[in-house]
Amino acid sequence: LYNMIQELRGNIRVFCRIRPAFNMEAKSSIDYTGKDGSLIVVDPTNPQSTRKSFHFNKIFGPDASQDEVYKDTQPLIRSVMDGYNVCIFAYGQTGSGKTHTMCGPSSGLSKNVGVNYMALSDLFQISSAREGINTLEIKNCSANGGLNVPDASMRSVQSVDDVLTLMKLGEKNRIFCSTAMNNRSSRSHSVLTVHILGEDMTRCKIRSCLHLVDLAGSERVDKSEVTGDRLKEAQHINKSLSCLGDVITALAQKNSHIPYRNSKLTQLLQNSLGGRAKVLMFAHVSPEADSYGETLSTLKFAQRVSTV
Ligand code: ADP
Ligand code: MG
Repeated sequence: LYNMIQELRGNIRVFCRIRPAFNMEAKSSIDYTGKDGSLIVVDPTNPQSTRKSFHFNKIFGPDASQDEVYKDTQPLIRSVMDGYNVCIFAYGQTGSGKTHTMCGPSSGLSKNVGVNYMALSDLFQISSAREGINTLEIKNCSANGGLNVPDASMRSVQSVDDVLTLMKLGEKNRIFCSTAMNNRSSRSHSVLTVHILGEDMTRCKIRSCLHLVDLAGSERVDKSEVTGDRLKEAQHINKSLSCLGDVITALAQKNSHIPYRNSKLTQLLQNSLGGRAKVLMFAHVSPEADSYGETLSTLKFAQRVSTV
């Protein structure tokens, strides 16, 4: 039944999440009332004249808990077990809460875990309750459609803890580099892919996969004041994010040509973008007035890929 309901909703959805302000007294650029999936962004230098409103499938305000966020994500995780490919992305500028949503707080406490952990727990729980499902297989990177990811490996896992151990290893391998915006800014995409092989309730073979993607920060290059190799890297990141936007927009508009081949990221995720696949993008925004420009560009990006 939930797949029928999901079908009716279409295959692309966008949730917006607003991070709590670090300084409660500081001026905010976001006017959010928690009503009807819309929010208003206010230009802090010109609050009277410039107010832009945006609509999404769901908006999570600064008080939304990890559990509330997961509750609306869970139906997609269930459809993975019914044979659908699913891609979940966290998009937004550095510091807006992408990793918080996907992995949990940076302090690494076991409470407040993120979507990754809850999704994998659900997958293991559903699979152990169903005979036909074999062990889940996790890749820290996939090599499909002729795209080879050097050094990618596929491991069989038995429990959520096995996965977390692998993810910690992946995190170590991830490149962190200082930028003017954040000295732990993550300048790479992190892709966790789960392959599911087995049978569904009616003993039909299932082969599906779930991609959980914590994207690199979407901030514009000039703001980070980087040069040389770092600049090239930043431009590369921005290009892959805009290619991702182009692909999802083309899918949302049901175009006949989907430009998967324009970036490695979209090639890598191709089997889970389009066709029967389901896509969820979390658009993360920081409420602070000095993030106004980035907030606006994140929301415009998210609106472009959204079908609302
Ligand atoms: P990003 O991955 O987008 O760079 P982070 O997830 O690291 O951002 O978030 C930046 C900081 O804000 C972290 O210390 C994180 O724990 C905190 N944070 C982000 N979102 C929330 C939230 N919804 N509630 C509480 N703290 C949050
Ligand atoms: Mg992060």
